[in-house]
Amino acid sequence: MTFASRMSRVVASPTLRVAAEADRLRRSGVDVVDLGAGEPDFATPEHVKDAAHRALDANFTKYTPSAGVMELRDAVAQRYRSDYGVEIKGDEVITTAGAKQALYNAAMALFDPGDDVITHGPFWPSIGDQIKLADARPVIVQTHMEDGFAIKAGAIVDAITPRTKAIIVNSPCNPTGALITESEMAAIAEAAAPRGIWVIVDFTYEKLIYEPVAHNLIRVLFDRMRDRTVVCSATSKAYAMTGWRCGWAIAPKDVINQMNVVQGHSTSNINSITQKAAIAALTGSQDSVVAMLDEYRKRRDAVHGWLTADPRIVCVKPGGAFYLFPYIADLLSPSGIKSSGEFAEALLKEVAVAVTPGEGFDAPGYFRLSYATSLERLKEGCDRIKAFVQKLESSGKLTAAS
Ligand code: PMP
Repeated sequence: MTFASRMSRVVASPTLRVAAEADRLRRSGVDVVDLGAGEPDFATPEHVKDAAHRALDANFTKYTPSAGVMELRDAVAQRYRSDYGVEIKGDEVITTAGAKQALYNAAMALFDPGDDVITHGPFWPSIGDQIKLADARPVIVQTHMEDGFAIKAGAIVDAITPRTKAIIVNSPCNPTGALITESEMAAIAEAAAPRGIWVIVDFTYEKLIYEPVAHNLIRVLFDRMRDRTVVCSATSKAYAMTGWRCGWAIAPKDVINQMNVVQGHSTSNINSITQKAAIAALTGSQDSVVAMLDEYRKRRDAVHGWLTADPRIVCVKPGGAFYLFPYIADLLSPSGIKSSGEFAEALLKEVAVAVTPGEGFDAPGYFRLSYATSLERLKEGCDRIKAFVQKLESSGKLTAAS
């Protein structure tokens, strides 16, 4: 069978292999500690679910405008007005099936064959593959564990060429948890604006920031290049709503209209009931967001402490999102476990802990651990990881899982 040539440029998520094996083990009765999932373990807040029940009872079950009902687009605008002090109109917002579709629509609407799009690595795999699906080329500027995976303007600006169409910044970042500072964001904007380069911010984890740091990226960009700014985010992580599929893009009206053409010919509007639920999430009490953040912070601190109590596990304490990204390259060896992919497979086979290997984020030598699960399970998972590492060292060359 022959497929479109673009299919040869993209891959299905490499993280799926461990997830599939974890699922197989679980079904065969093994007590797997799953630290692979990239989604909140909390339930969607009650008032949000109530709004969905009401929508269903009122038969709000028909097509809506492709970009979403104006009440929802206005609710997104209002949320950003109160959170960031920026004035946005409803027609500068499109609602999408998660932040993923917002980013995808932007790629389709803005990128051409021959374009370069700069982003920072380690990165969430869909960012790179969406660029390729739009027939453009990802240019990856690496961030480094030694300085906390800081996203630096200098390296990004140095990568700009006449082919650069856009810069995508993901802050807080999946998988590193790093945040870009406002001044680095400003420096990127000041280089991008005069060259007509788009800046796209993946703001999916905007509500998951643990210390009171200034992170008003939208204000920084609006002050310098509002006409070339696209901000993508979602209710997914902030309100524990991953399965509902509600995201959005905020951009100049003309860009929103083009993104809406893409969406109108592909998925059309997001689920009508989800739209009512999302309005409740965005306009209702934000207490649950704060409560979840407080819980994630406790978990981050605990898990970081438990893991780094073993000096062989090197790990930055991240400022945002809900992942740790430990460095384990020193535990690998040509005669034993050779890669973080093999490490994750062996970890699953030997001690039934599922994590995501760094290869999935273009970062061999690391693994990603999600702390979006209970403290009790996290403790169990960390104990097993440390026992595994201990065994790995004492055996000298644990044979990799087949
Ligand atoms: N961006 C990043 C960095 C993510 O980690 C994710 C989800 N894992 C998304 C976007 C997509 O989020 P959504 O579920 O809202 O589509």
